[in-house]
Amino acid sequence: MFFIFGINSGQKELSSDQLVICNICGGYGRYQVYMTYTSLSLFFIPVLKWGRSYYVKMSCCNSIYQLNGDVGKRMAAGEKPEISQSDLTLVKSGKREQWKALAGRKRSCRNCGYETEEDFAYCPKCGGRLGEE
Ligand SMILES: [Zn+2]
Ligand SMILES: [Zn+2]
Repeated sequence: MFFIFGINSGQKELSSDQLVICNICGGYGRYQVYMTYTSLSLFFIPVLKWGRSYYVKMSCCNSIYQLNGDVGKRMAAGEKPEISQSDLTLVKSGKREQWKALAGRKRSCRNCGYETEEDFAYCPKCGGRLGEE
């Protein structure tokens, strides 16, 4: 007899419409929950699944968190548990560029238009007061 085995890894999106204020970017975001797994299939029918893990992607800035496995399992079972920050472990934060842009905020002189990224209170060119953009 002749068997066809296959090992696949898959990803499934679990629905969540929980709206939160994102810790990373400060905007409103939705938790998008994904389950990833490895499955063994026989004649292209999955017979075994293992190595399940759950991830959350923020819809606002694409930050990735690993989700607590118990909460993930409940979601996979069709429940809608509330996801709290303590269930999440940050894997990768999105919008790092925006942080950088915030850190390097430019100040410009209202008097002569001189621009600097230094934290000067007064314009080195004309002595006028610098304002934040
Ligand atoms: Zn965000
Ligand atoms: Zn100036």
